[in-house]
Order: sequence, then structure tokens, then C-alpha cells
Amino acid sequence: PLLLQDKVAIVTGGAGRNGLGYASARMMAAHGARVAILDLEQADPAAAAAELGPQHIGLVADVTNKASCVAAAGEVLKRLGRIDVLLNNAGITQPIKTLDITGANYDAVLDVNLRGTLYMSQAAIPAMREQKSGAIVCISSVSAQRGGGILGGPHYSAAKAGVLGLAKAMAREFGADNIRVNCITPGLIATDINKGKIPEDKRAAILDSIPLGCIGEPNDVAGCVVFLASDLSKYCTGITVDVNGGMLI
Ligand code: NAD
Repeated sequence: PLLLQDKVAIVTGGAGRNGLGYASARMMAAHGARVAILDLEQADPAAAAAELGPQHIGLVADVTNKASCVAAAGEVLKRLGRIDVLLNNAGITQPIKTLDITGANYDAVLDVNLRGTLYMSQAAIPAMREQKSGAIVCISSVSAQRGGGILGGPHYSAAKAGVLGLAKAMAREFGADNIRVNCITPGLIATDINKGKIPEDKRAAILDSIPLGCIGEPNDVAGCVVFLASDLSKYCTGITVDVNGGMLI
């Protein structure tokens, strides 16, 4: 059987065709999952899901809004019947420095990356609990581990570090319900979030700091998502998997 046969997976922020979420949705679909792609209205999640095939659905959902998350989870249950996998992928970053962070900057970045991970997990966990199984995968970042990445600001590092703590706490709390919660910490992956934003004069130094010598591709993260979403990782919970080309060695 396929790795995710008969499974239903939710992917937040999954509509961007060049993004980690869409690549993960596509790879989970290839392994047999029916996928619900959630994203903001302007990202047109229905069109993204239709591209994957008729068994998949796209829903407009803003992860910063609790009611929107609960409504989306309800719609997934109604139309796809269960929730086996939640990929908390929606995220935004702002390349600014500590002294420039305004309250609005802080709210925007913390709300999508951290509050969104909490709200969508709260929306999905009751169904997983009832099924006595579930896998939640949260996208953090190397920025959380090294105190600043290449493009994210300090508030982004803080939000992504918050995701690591939240995920571990949920892993502990819901282990008895057979709900596993794990994180991925991507390094620099070529997506719209950083497209055209790597200064040319810094490019060589950045590549030099990555032992594998190249920037990652969305599918490099998607492969890890499939591992953490499937029973291949059934004894893993509360772990963090680095997908960064060796940046932290
Ligand atoms: P992306 O910009 O293509 O994807 C982010 C998606 O989130 C978009 O589709 C966007 O519409 C959606 N989104 C934004 N706000 C939302 C909201 N309130 N509700 C629902 N959806 C919302 O960028 P990406 O690189 O694919 O990012 C995916 C995740 O990976 C993010 O959490 C990001 O922080 C993380 N990440 C990316 C990199 C990288 O180098 N690309 C590295 C580390 C971590």
C-alpha cells in the first residue's frame, strides 16, 4: 500500500505553487492522501487543490482567526470524513532588525507563524483524538536555532522558536491519544518567500556556509513531511528534523 493510503491531510498556506506547502500537498497526494489545501482568499486554494486532482479540496482559511480554523476543520470532516495529518505551514517573514520592529510587525509575524499553529492544531486535534491517531507536522525554521536566518527578522526567529516549544508541549500532552507532533526546521529553500531577496553580493558567502553547497528545493522539505506524516515515523514525537544542507554543523 501507499504510505498515506486512505489518509486525509490538511496543509495550511498550501496554495503557493512554488511553496513548501504545495510541494508537501503534492507529495502526500502522490502517496495516496486526500488533501485539503487551506490558504488566504487571494492565494486561491480551490484552484491549487483542483490542480492536484478531483479528490482534493481547497478552502479559504486564515490561520490567525480561530473561527476560520474551526470552520475549515469542520468542512474537511464533512467533505473528506476524517483528519489524519495537519501540516502547519502557513508563515510570513519580515527582514527587519530588532530596533525597527513595531508592535504591528510583531503581531503580524507572531500571529501567522505561532498563533496560527496553535489555532489550527486546536481545530484539528478533537477529530484526531476521537480517531485515536493523528500526525501534526509544524514548519519552524533554522532561524529559530541560530538566532536569525538569512532573511527573517528577530521576531520571526522568536515565532519559529515558539513553534518548537508549542509542538513539544503538544507532543507531550497528546501522546496518550496517539497524536504525534513533530517539527521541521528548513534552512534556505527556494520559494516565493525569499525569491529575489538574496543580495547578489551575499550569495557566495551564503552558499559557502552550506556544506552541501546549494539552496534547498521545496521537495526536500516535502519528503520529510511525508516521513513525519506517515507510519514510517510512528515512534517519533516531539522531534525536530533539520532540512538545511548541513548549515548547523
Ligand atoms: P510561501 O510564502 O510560498 O508560503 C507561505 C504561505 O502561507 C502562502 O501561500 C501564504 O498565502 C500563506 N499564508 C500567509 N498568511 C496566512 C494566513 N494568515 N492564513 C493562511 N495562510 C497564510 O513561502 P514558503 O517558503 O513556502 O513558506 C512555508 C513555510 O516555511 C513558512 O512557515 C516559512 O516561514 C517556512 N520556512 C521557509 C523557509 C524558506 O527558505 N523558504 C525556511 C524556513 C522556514
